[in-house]
Amino acid sequence: MGKVTRLADSFWQRSLRNSARCTGISLHGGVAVSLAIHPAAPDSGILFRRTDVPSDVGDIPAHCDYIGATELCTTLVNEHGIRVATVEHLMAALAGCEIDNAVIELNGPEIPIMDGSAEPFVTLIEQAGIVEQDFPRRMIRVLRPVTVREGDSVASLEPYDGFSITLDIDFNSGAIGRQGLSLDVSCSAFKTDICRARTFGFLHEVQAMVKAGFARGGSLDNAVVVDGDKVVNEGGLRYTDEFVRHKVLDCIGDMYLAGGPLLGKFRGVKSGHAMHHKLLRALFDQESAWTTVSGDRPAGMSAPTWDARAVAASA
Ligand SMILES: [Zn+2]
Repeated sequence: MGKVTRLADSFWQRSLRNSARCTGISLHGGVAVSLAIHPAAPDSGILFRRTDVPSDVGDIPAHCDYIGATELCTTLVNEHGIRVATVEHLMAALAGCEIDNAVIELNGPEIPIMDGSAEPFVTLIEQAGIVEQDFPRRMIRVLRPVTVREGDSVASLEPYDGFSITLDIDFNSGAIGRQGLSLDVSCSAFKTDICRARTFGFLHEVQAMVKAGFARGGSLDNAVVVDGDKVVNEGGLRYTDEFVRHKVLDCIGDMYLAGGPLLGKFRGVKSGHAMHHKLLRALFDQESAWTTVSGDRPAGMSAPTWDARAVAASA
């Protein structure tokens, strides 16, 4: 505590300049999914839109109120039972690039896994271009410490002038073992230190998952696979501690389901999607534990001009 950083890289809300598209395989369904990311109006937030269902039931807000399942990945579900699974890596990319407003269209129930990291989504966002909009970013400031526990897993948030993550993992495998990372999350730290870290699994678990009907699209092209004390992938790891970095990536994505950037210090020990969801619930359940704030507008900074026609064109 005590170290004061800037609250966020951008004072203004940000969206995309244009739309961008990609296609990939869904990790659990194993089918091709097309995804498009579109500009959206200020204060509209991140919205998922299923294009393979009737248009009046296909919208799912990227908010923790809509979290439906947290086994293996984070799944959102709306009041009509329409779901979108494996949102966390794309949410991490949006958080890391400080995108406040976007519509994500997809023609299936699961975000494509791409290479198992957030980097392809960062590239997609950069291809679309980023614009500042003339509304200040609204952040969720943690006012009081909140902690949740389950077994030997712990996750907590405490007040902080920025967003930082400290995470420890401990796996009974020589390839992973104990790893810890502490990071002040910023656009540049996300891009250099986090976004390339891939999801991972153990060979025996992957085989069991496939048998149970999950991870049908899983391969060495989109995950680090660990067999005992060895990494199976021929190319090895992208970071020596890629495992904990991926857990930080997941955490950034899950925490962005607060509905905006958090101002707080996250601390997790062996925490996963379910704990992250529980932590957000515990935070929002206590009215005195949080508030919504904007940063201080730097002196002399004028409001950006942005082209609202891009939003209308993509609607
Ligand atoms: Zn992940």
